[in-house]
Amino acid sequence: MNNFTYKFDTPVFKGKVDFPTGVFIDGNFIAGSNNTTIDVINPTNGEIIAKVSEATTKDVDLAVEAAQKAFDTTWGLNAPGALRARLLNKLATLMEEHHDRLSAVEALDNGKTFNWAKYGDVTIAIDTIKYYAGWADKIQGKTIETSKGKLAYTRHEPIGVVGQIVAWNFPLLLMCIKIAPALACGNTIVFKPSEFTPLSALYLASLIRTAGFPSGVFNVVVGTGPTVGEAISLHMGIEKVAFTGSTRVGRRIMECAAKSNLKDVTLELGGKSPNVILNDADLELAVGWSSHGIFWSSGQVCMAGSRIFVQSGIYDEFLKRFTEKTRSLKLGDPFDADAYQGPVVSKEHYDRVMGYIASGKADGATVHQGGERHGDLGYWIQPTIFTNVRPDMKIVKEEIFGPVAVIIKFEDEDDVVRQANDTVYGLAAAVFTQDVSRALDVAHRLRAGTVWINSASEVNAAIPLGGYKQSGNGRDLGEYALSHYTNVKAVHVNIGNTRI
Ligand code: NAD
Repeated sequence: MNNFTYKFDTPVFKGKVDFPTGVFIDGNFIAGSNNTTIDVINPTNGEIIAKVSEATTKDVDLAVEAAQKAFDTTWGLNAPGALRARLLNKLATLMEEHHDRLSAVEALDNGKTFNWAKYGDVTIAIDTIKYYAGWADKIQGKTIETSKGKLAYTRHEPIGVVGQIVAWNFPLLLMCIKIAPALACGNTIVFKPSEFTPLSALYLASLIRTAGFPSGVFNVVVGTGPTVGEAISLHMGIEKVAFTGSTRVGRRIMECAAKSNLKDVTLELGGKSPNVILNDADLELAVGWSSHGIFWSSGQVCMAGSRIFVQSGIYDEFLKRFTEKTRSLKLGDPFDADAYQGPVVSKEHYDRVMGYIASGKADGATVHQGGERHGDLGYWIQPTIFTNVRPDMKIVKEEIFGPVAVIIKFEDEDDVVRQANDTVYGLAAAVFTQDVSRALDVAHRLRAGTVWINSASEVNAAIPLGGYKQSGNGRDLGEYALSHYTNVKAVHVNIGNTRI
């Protein structure tokens, strides 16, 4: 079992990180039971940066056992809310101390820029831990009046051992979004990061240990989806799985839950979000947010505004300005101070996105901008704009999860609402207009879990995030997420000893 020791000497961060890379079970970092490792690849050059211990199904069993023991003894109903809040706040303080180092690890592992990792991902991750620390001592039920001599009340009890599986696009943030409400409510966790980006999860595990969470409350098993992910979804000792990832895998997780113990499942899945720009929009504002909406983090954002609908009166001017904005985005090393876009996460994902670009070309769409690889090392893809697309094209229908926008001209609002909703997804949407009534009317007619008015891709710890249709079920973030981490118990009390 190794440590990840790395010295950063970059324009934006200089410093060293050092943390263990074992499977984290019952408070200890250990070698996986098969003694194998997973290579972690730097997407800027394809080189191996770390080898982390690979978990097996046996390790999942051990993690569940440790999590169950902790639930029954030191956590669950045995840990008062005030203690859970204190430990979560301690973790947030440690994350603040390690803010730059966590950001550097995230940029190195995922390819996102250090600055976006620092001011976006890690900042929101810390906010999320603090937000749920605030809830930890406010998890409470209701008293319900029934009749004289009777009393009923509800208890919001933790569920037990929870499995959590996440994607690689915001590794630390997705992790904190999952673990914070689960811990605040008193559950114990078996957590699986993506095998493509496991480093920040292991780093955070070492901070969780330092913060003083009892052993076994939080466990990390790094491994592939078909082995470790399925072992979690099928496990009879896990009573809930919370998942962030693709719709394809979400479907499989539901199948596994149905086949095993009917565990509760919440899913945060893919999207093909519409971004609707009306004739009276503030053009500069619309161009800026639309660009961010699709090109931020190389477009590897579940809620990315990948279908941009522009009303005919401003179409030409929007396209001109949007193209200029796209050309101005600086592709560069994630540790360059002025880089906006780094590489995509992996060779596999690079091939997938380039495959979509090729399909757009083959289907006859016009590559208005980009459409090629950038550089000859690593996995950069030029920010790409397609025009002259048809609704049946793959690039219009399917989630590409890369820096690829399609721009579609429309005439009237009813038609754009119909087109925007013509998708199996329903994660997010945006509308740009200076008329508040039109904004709210369109926002209410869009079938999506989040709608931004005059902005895009904003996330806040207090605001729920989740999908309609095949973008998932349940909600992450905000007060809403708490309901997915408790069982409600109703207690009936016969105060008056009424006899039957
Ligand atoms: P993915 O579905 O391939 O993998 C996600 C996680 O599931 C990984 O940890 C993976 O190892 C695991 N996994 C794979 N096969 C599994 C199986 N059979 N059983 C259990 N687990 C398995 O997704 P990805 O490529 O990592 O991420 C991209 C996807 O994630 C996109 O579709 C994106 O929209 C989605 N996403 C959604 C949100 C959201 O909040 N809705 C946020 C981020 C990403």
